[in-house]
Amino acid sequence: MSWEMVIGLETHVELQTESKVFCTCKAEFGAEPNTHVCPVCMGLPGALPVFNEQVLHYAAKAGFALNCCVHHRSVFDRKNYFYPDLPKAYQISQFYRPLCENGWLTVQTAAGEKKIGITRIHIEEDAGKLLHDEQNGTLLDMNRCGVPLIEIVSEPDIRSAEEAVAYLRKVRAILTYIGVSDCRMNEGSLRCDVNLSIHQPDEPFGVRTEMKNLNSFQSVERAIKAEYERQIAAIETGEEIVQETRRYDQKTGKTSSMRRKENSADYRYFPDPDLPEVRLTDEQMEEIKAEIPMLPDARREAYMNDYALTAYAAEQLTSERWLADYFEEAAKHAKSAVSVANLLQGEVFAILSAKATEAEKKGTTAPEGVDSLPIHPSHLAKLSDLLVDGRVNSSTGKRILGVLFEGDCDPEAYARQHALFAVSDDSILMETVQQTLAQNPDMVESFRKGKTTVERALMGKAMAATKGKADPERLSKLLRKALEELTK
Ligand SMILES: [Zn+2]
Repeated sequence: MSWEMVIGLETHVELQTESKVFCTCKAEFGAEPNTHVCPVCMGLPGALPVFNEQVLHYAAKAGFALNCCVHHRSVFDRKNYFYPDLPKAYQISQFYRPLCENGWLTVQTAAGEKKIGITRIHIEEDAGKLLHDEQNGTLLDMNRCGVPLIEIVSEPDIRSAEEAVAYLRKVRAILTYIGVSDCRMNEGSLRCDVNLSIHQPDEPFGVRTEMKNLNSFQSVERAIKAEYERQIAAIETGEEIVQETRRYDQKTGKTSSMRRKENSADYRYFPDPDLPEVRLTDEQMEEIKAEIPMLPDARREAYMNDYALTAYAAEQLTSERWLADYFEEAAKHAKSAVSVANLLQGEVFAILSAKATEAEKKGTTAPEGVDSLPIHPSHLAKLSDLLVDGRVNSSTGKRILGVLFEGDCDPEAYARQHALFAVSDDSILMETVQQTLAQNPDMVESFRKGKTTVERALMGKAMAATKGKADPERLSKLLRKALEELTK
């Protein structure tokens, strides 16, 4: 039997506002514990919340960018539950009348384009953070209490781990394009809950389980695969799937039960009596819509048309706004946009991922976004031109790129200073070839006897004699010519 997985995602995104959602404390990440707190966000009795209008602005912007119907009126509700990181014993959220409903986005997967529905987007406040420490037991940091969040609830339209990750990447791309969040999964500003059930394609959906707070694309993908396998094994051995919250353990690669899932009725939602209805006028809505820049899908199309990039290249380069901005700026200065795209997707991405891996090993974090690429776009464009014109060969290009990462400079000036221009003068190259043959009589002899594989070794030696600067195509042509002369 082939079981189909049915997935809906709940994505929590911290909004990048200066201050928290119901008080004036700073909302920044990474401050000393309990330094950004006040009676409101600590939930002291008698403190009254005041809604931060910037949050409404950002949440509505997210709604428009995700093709939602954004409502003129929405309402805050109290979601009642007890947990040590929630000092008020309720979270202010929107339940009955959320700000945004009925949106969608599209994803590209190996199977083609797919539209995924968005049920709703509502505003809520984040909870604090429990720090479990062996010496001191459990400590509570309330800096995160009251940091503004939007929760984006998808329709159960997702059918594979690949689609789930593509959906999250698209959410991240869109929200960073419009500048409402930095969407850093490693800092918790984008977190994801996965609801998953399985069924036979023509039958109703099965009972779903929920896996909470997954904080990397990789753990989302692995958790989905593990839970899918577990549910199949359970059903096929006659076990019943129960609605519950499960934890995904990265070490074992398995999910385990945490608690039976509450239903919304368990939270006793009711409208918050301390907060007035949230209102958005037509004018405000028009203002917000006008601020939305060209989004990833439109930009991808434009790259395919204007720069003749492949769909894959265009998708990669538009996945993050800083990257798309960087590419466009570099392409403006370069002779070939395709060459700039190749340089970015090839050598530049390789260096970035090596740096990220290295940082992970050391237990630090590599710079993200535009900070990760400390090379002026015009310099990358110049390097691309040097390669396009054959003035430096690809291995020298790689070497210069490494230098630019360590300390940005003009690649042409650097190549001149260090005599790195490709040697493409046939008379100089032929001289090198003749010298190489003269210095390696044994190899030449083997070639004469029919061992043609030594040609590669001779090519390596000739290339080394030019200190790697020869135009490889020309050098190889001349070497072949010289060897053919010898065997005539
Ligand atoms: Zn506060």
